[in-house]
Amino acid sequence: MSIIIKSEHEIELMRQAGRIVAMVLEVLKARVRPGMCTEELDVIAAEEAQKLGGRPSFKGYRGFPANLCVSVNDEIVHGIPGKKVLCEGDIVSLDFGVIYQDFQGDAAITMGVGDVSPEAKRLMEVTEDALKAGVATARPGARLGDVSAAIEQYAESRGYSVVRQYSGHGIGRKLHEDPQVPNCTTPGFGLMAGTGPELQKGMTLALEPMVNIGDWETKQDDDNWTVRTRDGSLSAHFENTIAITDGEAEVLTKL
Ligand code: MG
Repeated sequence: MSIIIKSEHEIELMRQAGRIVAMVLEVLKARVRPGMCTEELDVIAAEEAQKLGGRPSFKGYRGFPANLCVSVNDEIVHGIPGKKVLCEGDIVSLDFGVIYQDFQGDAAITMGVGDVSPEAKRLMEVTEDALKAGVATARPGARLGDVSAAIEQYAESRGYSVVRQYSGHGIGRKLHEDPQVPNCTTPGFGLMAGTGPELQKGMTLALEPMVNIGDWETKQDDDNWTVRTRDGSLSAHFENTIAITDGEAEVLTKL
């Protein structure tokens, strides 16, 4: 494993990449409505990123065919935008990344389409707060497994399960750098509290819990991308790119 420590100049470029990602997600948030098809969101994401000087990073990554990942209801991550129409009451996860001056930003949100059920709302709130719990733990001197444990404990103590097969990641010049950042402590999938690399200033990580109402098990569609819950339960996904500082981590994917 080789973890790349970034200079202040490199972090500034990542801050700019992150701001573009946040601005694009903000536009998408305002545009999501019942009756639109998911590929419209893909077009908007590409146009907005271009206006801001960022290049969408997912397109072509390991052959991914779109700019934006759009995952609806029981879809967890890596949904491919297409002809699917969003309906009132759906929840939709939007995951977007850009490259700006050779540096990456990566973030995701889940939001309701029109009015959604109280169960869906609570799932989204808990997932976003599980991400915040991870970020709050990501300080110098903590071990990476402390971040995994904080995320898992937050979500599981509220009755949900955390997806085990997909993790957050280091990020910088490359979308996926060392280390992997698991969202759980399960042997074989995760990292126990107090274990893993020690966090230090200048590390840049994408934290991204995926949380299910039902079981943690997943399955993949025939498109070889879309990942969904095996039991069909709802799933939410929130992600931020952060930089480890002397104190509280800095969220780079923010406005
Ligand atoms: Mg990511």
